[in-house]
Amino acid sequence: MSCIIEVKNVSKIYRMGDEKISALSNINLSMEKGKFYCLLGTSGSGKSTLLHLLAGLEKPSKGEIRIKNAMIHKLKENQLAKFRQMNIGFVFQSYNLLPMLTAMENVSIPLTFKGVNRKLRDKKAASLLRAVGLGDRLKHKPSQMSGGQQQRVSIARAFIGNPEIIFADEPTGNLDTKTSQEVMELITSMAKENNQTLVIVTHDVEISKYADRVIYIRDGSIEKIVDNLEKEGALS
Ligand code: ADP
Ligand code: MG
Repeated sequence: MSCIIEVKNVSKIYRMGDEKISALSNINLSMEKGKFYCLLGTSGSGKSTLLHLLAGLEKPSKGEIRIKNAMIHKLKENQLAKFRQMNIGFVFQSYNLLPMLTAMENVSIPLTFKGVNRKLRDKKAASLLRAVGLGDRLKHKPSQMSGGQQQRVSIARAFIGNPEIIFADEPTGNLDTKTSQEVMELITSMAKENNQTLVIVTHDVEISKYADRVIYIRDGSIEKIVDNLEKEGALS
């Protein structure tokens, strides 16, 4: 077993004026490379907060988060940015594409940060867009595409740097049932193919059925952890 993400005694308290909001309390978790995890819970349970902590987008109030060999809660902003560029891809509910850029330019962004030259960026972006079924939409802007197509572009962007870890926060939250299934098939098959660790946040039990392991979050705590044993290659 190779553990890629480890969370120890993590809590997160938000301060709003005099009020303290406990978003997460005493979370302990470990995740293996190449597996698919789902953080499942109702709205306000703390799922996004946990994902943001794992991705280094926010700092825990207490506890430790190790990803690969880095204690990410200790990294400085610029080190974190670099770490994310090298290791993490992120898919958002609302796609977060840049409206003025074409599909190909949006997908290329992570490679721009890595200093990859234009020609190679374009080649990789086009090839990935073909892989997500958008070979005929390379020059389209986000407003010229459906929600499902925009989410495919954002998936291509998350995968283009071949990061070891993919995080997705309610990736199908704005999509209809059929498109949600297609998007889930796409994310899970791409992650499997590249042996990437996938962590998806959702409130939707249907989505959680795709996961190897489901982590139930309730009121900022882990309620239970359930393995989908019928899945091929399930966790031992
Ligand atoms: P979920 O993603 O499960 O819907 P969140 O992680 O977004 O839940 O939120 C968990 C709790 O933390 C909620 O009560 C929410 O209101 C609170 N919260 C989240 N982000 C902030 C913030 N930036 N400032 C204050 N409270 C927050
Ligand atoms: Mg959320």
